[in-house]
Amino acid sequence: MAEELTEYSGPATMEKITSLAKRRGFVFQSSEIYGGQSGAWDYGPMGIELKNRIAGFWWKEMTQLHDDIVGLDAAILMHPRTWEASGHVENFTDPLVDCKKCKSRFRTDMVPEENLAKKICPECEGELTDSRKFNLMFKSHIGPTEDNAGLIYLRPETAQGIYVNYKNIIQSNRMKIPFGIAQIGKAFRNEIVTKNFIFRTCEFEQMEMQYFVKPGTDVEWFNEWKKRRWAFYEKLGVKTDHMRWHQHGPDELAHYAKDAYDIQYLFPMGWRELEGVHNRTDYDLTRHTEYSGKDLQYIDQDNNNDRYIPYIIETSAGLTRTLLMLICDAYDEEKIDSDSSGDSADEMRTVLRFHPVVAPVTVAVLPLMKKDGLAELAQDIRSELKEDYATDYDQSGAIGRRYRRQDEAGTPFCITIDYQTKDDQTVTLRYRDSMEQERIPRADLAEKIRQEIKAYKRGR
Ligand code: ATP
Repeated sequence: MAEELTEYSGPATMEKITSLAKRRGFVFQSSEIYGGQSGAWDYGPMGIELKNRIAGFWWKEMTQLHDDIVGLDAAILMHPRTWEASGHVENFTDPLVDCKKCKSRFRTDMVPEENLAKKICPECEGELTDSRKFNLMFKSHIGPTEDNAGLIYLRPETAQGIYVNYKNIIQSNRMKIPFGIAQIGKAFRNEIVTKNFIFRTCEFEQMEMQYFVKPGTDVEWFNEWKKRRWAFYEKLGVKTDHMRWHQHGPDELAHYAKDAYDIQYLFPMGWRELEGVHNRTDYDLTRHTEYSGKDLQYIDQDNNNDRYIPYIIETSAGLTRTLLMLICDAYDEEKIDSDSSGDSADEMRTVLRFHPVVAPVTVAVLPLMKKDGLAELAQDIRSELKEDYATDYDQSGAIGRRYRRQDEAGTPFCITIDYQTKDDQTVTLRYRDSMEQERIPRADLAEKIRQEIKAYKRGR
């Protein structure tokens, strides 16, 4: 086995990623004109395309390709008892300390032990308060008065919406164990420390799938879902030497979990959690039975009407965190040494090597010149491709510069229209990764691109 990487050594830095994301319309700071809102980010034209495509890919992989998994879109606002039953009211806390002098706030586990012992602020050497627990759920009130009767939480995870609907889904869709419920949606956490761009934010999106199994089969299913979730990232072409498993030790294990593994990714700031695969046992459904008074047992009609509370295997990934991971993973800088085709020599290019299934723009159409009817011809070709692909059109500047712009946005295919196109209806298809070009008939374009997407393998 290859030795595990200890440090990120690629070309990306968080500064470069943040700046590219803003420059190219992936991610903007929330409420920037007011100085920004910490913990919140806005997804621009490229960002929303990328986010939607990641979500679409996950949805297809987790529902369409599995006969035993169905989808759900539960409300963000849930009955407050949900969060008592789930343990979040009591346990969803981070320990924190404040500096009395500079007013900085730290998660206790992030403060060097020496500072904690002496109660010295790691930033200004002022005095630290005692460590206290801080609940990460955002609270609000529903209705006209701000009293406890109207207390409501913004959900801190999408999972609970799945658990409280599990019986509805069995009944409406005749699901039989083992089966899964998938959901993508917003979650909110009052994170004490939000840094590293969109890695940890107060408002984010999760892609969760909860798989309901018979007790006793849980370990087998847990291992199966670990394999499948790893394969998901492989299919997206993510660098596997930048991925590893991390098993939760006894002090990390959540109150509900029997076993838990994270897939970690080597970000420019180091190894960090990307997704969790958890064996949540029968904790959640047992607690919801207790708190709601409803019988949440599964009745196994194929086995003498056996009754049991299912165990749950959870796969929980951050959508926005996956987006950051994919930008970091795709980011590359490369010296160009051939100028055969509009790519000028000795120039550096920045390229996002997204898998074409998630690239915000799949095909860019570029007329070599605006004049002599080439622009109109290019627009015509673009409108043909629009039905099948996300397209872009660019007619301004030298062709090499236009390729550079598309490379930086991660567009896998560029089509160039020139005078020959007028004569013989062929176009040049340029590949982002290799920068190779080939001439193909206009009529074959849509099918050719479809095949290229299906066969895509990342070169570097
Ligand atoms: P962390 O240890 O990073 O705080 P966690 O273990 O609390 O994460 P889970 O509750 O297991 O995370 O959430 C599942 C996934 O949701 C995480 O793997 C991550 O991808 C995403 N996620 C969790 N918290 C945040 C956040 N504040 N911002 C962005 N994504 C998040």
